[in-house]
Amino acid sequence: MIKENLNKVLENIEKAAKVSGRSPEDITLIGVSKTIAPENIQTLVDLGVKNLGENKVQELVSKMPVIKGDVKWHLIGSLQSNKIKYIAGQVFLIHSVDSIKLAENINKEAKKRDITIDILVEINIGNEETKHGFFLEEAEKAIEKISLLSNISIKGLMCIAPFKEDPEENRPLFRAMKALYDKYAKESPHSIHMEYLSMGMTNDYEIAIEEGSNMVRIGTGLFGKRVYQE
Ligand SMILES: *Cc1c(COP(=O)(O)O)cnc(C)c1O
Repeated sequence: MIKENLNKVLENIEKAAKVSGRSPEDITLIGVSKTIAPENIQTLVDLGVKNLGENKVQELVSKMPVIKGDVKWHLIGSLQSNKIKYIAGQVFLIHSVDSIKLAENINKEAKKRDITIDILVEINIGNEETKHGFFLEEAEKAIEKISLLSNISIKGLMCIAPFKEDPEENRPLFRAMKALYDKYAKESPHSIHMEYLSMGMTNDYEIAIEEGSNMVRIGTGLFGKRVYQE
């Protein structure tokens, strides 16, 4: 089933990339493996998906040594400062930097280890109280403040758009994300190196790609519906 799902997703990515005048290789597919059993994750990796996303530090760290292959791990869920030490230097990208305080603490940990940590700034694009991230109005100030931290490199932006029955409704939000991304892609002060626009999940990734996303995070569309324990 995973193979069929993946083929369908890749087909959709290709179509959407074409609409936006790009090729499918320009889009990074992250398989979101939260709650998924290691053998099923391994199946996906063996089929060629080399980027995996987890939203909890503990789950990520426990799966990391179990999955074989040249995998890039992404932390996509909210990060508590006391857990930074477990993933510093271990993950390819932290997608979920949603406060200045968290950025400062990541910077501190990076300094201690004499490394640079690549991050995305999370934007609460739907202005939802239940979601994390900077509001669009405060985003520029936040990005510029974070960019001054010596051991953090801002590699792009991330958002979780509101869930909509009709994902078309999210198109203007994705467009606003792309506009902010482009602003810093053109003239990048300090340590801003816009490479990744992480937006689009199972329900809305095609629209996100059409509007400029180059990194999609897909769980259900690859593995089927998640079953949460407890
Ligand atoms: C779970 C999750 C996803 C994947 O969601 P699906 O709808 O299953 O594709 C993407 N991004 C984040 C941050 C998530 O927590």
